[in-house]
Amino acid sequence: MKTSYNHTHSSGFLFSAASIIFLALLLSCSHKPPQEKGNFESSDLVELVKLDSSFHLDIRYATNNNFTGRPVYTEARAFLQRPAAEALVKVNKELKNYGYGLLIFDAYRPWSVTKLFWDITPRENKKFVANPKKGSRHNRACAVDVSLYELNTGKVAQMTGQYDEMSERSYSNYTGGTEEQCKNRDLLISIMEENGFTVYEYEWWHFDYQGWEKYRIQDIQFSEIK
Ligand SMILES: [Zn+2]
Repeated sequence: MKTSYNHTHSSGFLFSAASIIFLALLLSCSHKPPQEKGNFESSDLVELVKLDSSFHLDIRYATNNNFTGRPVYTEARAFLQRPAAEALVKVNKELKNYGYGLLIFDAYRPWSVTKLFWDITPRENKKFVANPKKGSRHNRACAVDVSLYELNTGKVAQMTGQYDEMSERSYSNYTGGTEEQCKNRDLLISIMEENGFTVYEYEWWHFDYQGWEKYRIQDIQFSEIK
């Protein structure tokens, strides 16, 4: 009986020591962006409003009004790699012919924020967030979340669903919604896609810029961007 007790006790101890080491390894790996090998373009982050002051900003992640319920950015600013930023200026100019301007929800996003989104999102909604093991195209400053505002009223244009809504209304090919909502969404998608962006199939507001794979994942804060 005593031998058996000792055996159980020592294997229990070994088991918990191993778990602690494993957990420590897991934590130390998963709190750092993935290390990517190869050649990358050097980063040239541009603040969008400095290229075009008619972009409207609604940086939800700097407010409580986002799916995490609290601010995850300390500054309401938006940056992209220069070629993507310049393409977005073209989109904004073209939209003026239709009476709209671009409303920006998010652009460059530090990797640690992507990690936080992944950790707090339940399994069934993971398609709406990027896996931090691969990083997000937002982390490469080559993805942007946008909508439209009306030039004559300044009001946000109606879309099929809300920003960051985790439902099928967010799908870029969702067929429900009013005629106006679908027309606005399709206008946004067509002008973005003419200018080198590709919509994400599960989110009408999310667009990746061509050549995103040439840029590294970054984890610098907005305040550190020169
Ligand atoms: Zn996005």
